[in-house]
Amino acid sequence: MPRPILATVHTEALRQNLQALQVAAGDARLWAVVKANAYGHGIERVFEGLRAADGFALLDLHEAQRLRALDWRGPILLLEGIFEARDLELCSRLGLWHVIHCNEQIDMLAAHKTQLPQRVFLKMNSGMNRLGFKPERFRAAWTRLNALPQVDEISLMTHFSDADGPAGVAAQFQAFEAATHDLPGERTLSNSAALLRHAEALAERSDWVRPGIAVYGSAADFPQHSAGHWGLQPAMTLSSKLIAVQQLETGDSVGYGATFTADRAMRIGVVACGYADGYPRHSGTGAPVLVDGVRTRLLGRVSMDMLTVDLSPVPSAGIGSEVTLWGTSASGAVLPIDEVAAAAGTVSYELMCAVAARVPFAA
Ligand SMILES: *Cc1c(COP(=O)(O)O)cnc(C)c1O
Repeated sequence: MPRPILATVHTEALRQNLQALQVAAGDARLWAVVKANAYGHGIERVFEGLRAADGFALLDLHEAQRLRALDWRGPILLLEGIFEARDLELCSRLGLWHVIHCNEQIDMLAAHKTQLPQRVFLKMNSGMNRLGFKPERFRAAWTRLNALPQVDEISLMTHFSDADGPAGVAAQFQAFEAATHDLPGERTLSNSAALLRHAEALAERSDWVRPGIAVYGSAADFPQHSAGHWGLQPAMTLSSKLIAVQQLETGDSVGYGATFTADRAMRIGVVACGYADGYPRHSGTGAPVLVDGVRTRLLGRVSMDMLTVDLSPVPSAGIGSEVTLWGTSASGAVLPIDEVAAAAGTVSYELMCAVAARVPFAA
């Protein structure tokens, strides 16, 4: 028998999450963000559940090729644009729309020989300070692009740094508006958190929205809200089984470093899942786990191939019992990935992207 760990991608959950986000988006069209191999789910595995999207956004040219190989003929947006001049040939060949965030990309475009003018998304750095032109340099970049025969349509874009937090989107939106209000072109502003929390404030400037994490069933603003609050379901379940059971007496400890010591007699289960599967090693005693759909807790340190759980709430559990590390159990009980991530001091994005190559996937 193969080792029992398994990642399952839920097509129906993706479909329903997409639908919920389309409702939130109102009249805006929606890019499903599938960068980083669809946040670790696998582009080919999510495609069926997301094919009702208006477009796909990603940043790796190979991933764009994979989408075209699936016969996706609709829009594809390269979120970081081109990395070198010859990428423009692929943009022409595959009909990719691409972000322009720096003058060097405009230089490459100006030198590009093409019959087909390209659609570009000019990106403003409205405060995130990663990619884009500062507001005071934006118009000059737009004017330069607008004069190029290589350019077809220019759309305008920015990205929020705190759409899920206390700062919100107001200041960045204001900076964007002030510098662009009289420029023509479609706008795309919102990630998941902006779409879920600030759709109304941004509605007038939302021709396209760009949700990623919410598509996969994470809340985007956890712990203020849960995925359930937004009507989102886990698109991925990471499951395994108990491969051993131990009886602890008072004073017995568990695992490397003996970081957990029993203060009473208790049964514990050993799960075939460790940090070499992508489960966060920074997690520890108290992190939530489901055994046979019943919520219990991790005990002690996560090791490479195993972790241990408290079986006190599930006395019937034994070798072979189902363990849900995150996602949905066979009984339908849900363990939100956001809660598992919080217990490990990280975010759901990192857990989804970190599922290791040795974990088999079922779709
Ligand atoms: C990743 C990304 C998104 C999606 O962000 P989520 O927080 O996952 O919704 C949107 N826009 C850009 C530019 C991105 O890089």
